[in-house]
Amino acid sequence: SSTHLVLENYIGGKFVACGDSIDSYDPSTGQVYCSVPDSGQDEVNAAVAAAKEAFPDWSSRSPEQRAQVLNKLADLIEANLDEFAQAESKDQGKTLAFARTVDIPRSVHNFRFFASSVLHHTNDSTQMDHMGCLNYTVRSPVGVAGLISPWNLPLYLLTWKIAPAVAAGNTVVAKPSEMTSVTAWMMCKLMQEAGVPPGVINIVFGSGPKAGDTLVGHPDVPLVSFTGSTATAQRITERSAPYCKKLSLELGGKNPALIFADADLEQCVATTVRSSFSNQGEICLCTSRVYVERSIYPQFLEKFVAAARKWKTGAPSDPGSNNGALISKEHLEKVRSFVALARSEGATVHCGEGVDRLELPAQHAGGYFLPATVLTGVADSSRVMQEEIFGPVVCVSPFDTEEEAVARGNNVRFGLGAVVWSRDVGRVHRVAGRIQAGLVWTNCWLIRDLNLPFGGMKSSGTGREGGRDSYHFFTEVKTICVKH
Ligand code: NAD
Repeated sequence: SSTHLVLENYIGGKFVACGDSIDSYDPSTGQVYCSVPDSGQDEVNAAVAAAKEAFPDWSSRSPEQRAQVLNKLADLIEANLDEFAQAESKDQGKTLAFARTVDIPRSVHNFRFFASSVLHHTNDSTQMDHMGCLNYTVRSPVGVAGLISPWNLPLYLLTWKIAPAVAAGNTVVAKPSEMTSVTAWMMCKLMQEAGVPPGVINIVFGSGPKAGDTLVGHPDVPLVSFTGSTATAQRITERSAPYCKKLSLELGGKNPALIFADADLEQCVATTVRSSFSNQGEICLCTSRVYVERSIYPQFLEKFVAAARKWKTGAPSDPGSNNGALISKEHLEKVRSFVALARSEGATVHCGEGVDRLELPAQHAGGYFLPATVLTGVADSSRVMQEEIFGPVVCVSPFDTEEEAVARGNNVRFGLGAVVWSRDVGRVHRVAGRIQAGLVWTNCWLIRDLNLPFGGMKSSGTGREGGRDSYHFFTEVKTICVKH
């Protein structure tokens, strides 16, 4: 469509225009279609002030009252699910089917989950009868939370932070990625009807170095929850160090799949194609290194390449497409450069980039598409095997022993997710226990119970999110000792 969207900040319950703006592209056409506020100090300061003002009332409400508001917001997003899914697909490049079945339903679920979860927390108490003492803990919301989210799962990851923060009684200033701001802005239009009091949820749009940096460095924002790249997390850590801020950092990955000879091969191939290429490979949990036991390596590779070739990249709106477009021209070039590097180092490209031609409708000729790509013959020491590519590119390599598989799986700076494929229950537990990753799936991928911790080890982050973990992050605990 030719309509040009103009987004505005949402501060203190009102939409506020911003003087400067950033162009936002439709990745499937390469055309600018939207202006995002390029917020700076003035906008961030106003949002933090509004959040600070709203805090005393919101934090003194009962969990039930807060839950009611979150449930209503969930209902309103759900009632507009199709419109949200269309917008997410257009803004991000992902398929409409993925936005409809994953992004938006999960955003709705995030609000419902934390609305319910916050009703069920209990605190600790201990007796010290010999001292005539009783100890107990109390938890209170911290204040204004700064929330910063990336472009790959825009509304999904933003609501994964907003919901637990406000459920626990904090007020928030959130900054989505400047590349994918539309669904957050659409959600702002529902706040009033949902009964979100002015100032409880503020959204400031803009770039990382300007709006994001100002938010992280604001003295009245005592905690920051960030999902994004490891490089940005480093800057955020430095920026917040003088204030000793509470930080939750959910970062990149270089996730291995370890496939043993006794795996159910059909199921393993089908799931590994999904885990490698879903959402254009733009999920922090996507598999990027596949290690296969040598005895089944040729068989696995043949089936895997055949399945990858069937994983169709095409128009995001086409129900037959498994993948849409990558987020930006720069990102497409970055992903391509990794394939070129692998080639120059002697790797084999079995399918995808440079091998298979994409057939796209004319309107998508300028879009940022890259087909599912499978590489072999890449050394573990190569940058292709060490750095996060965050696109539909995966390396496959054979191994001989369990010991070797674990060692090579762990041989990267990241530690976010891992998948283990085996029908030997002893091996499954042994390998899962030794893999350095915050999340290990065995014989499946991406199944999540939101009650349990989510997050990474090593350069994949610090802190965990999930029912209890998010509650702990978004509250301060105090231990009280009473002598009777
Ligand atoms: P990014 O780090 O470039 O940006 C993330 C967010 O931080 C954006 O909103 C950006 O504007 C902001 N930002 C950038 N510089 C900033 C600064 N100096 N100060 C404050 N904010 C700043 O990451 P991205 O490219 O948007 O997202 C992709 C990355 O996110 C990948 O590394 C991916 O693995 C990671 N990711 C991690 C998880 C997880 O849960 N572990 C989930 C999704 C994505």
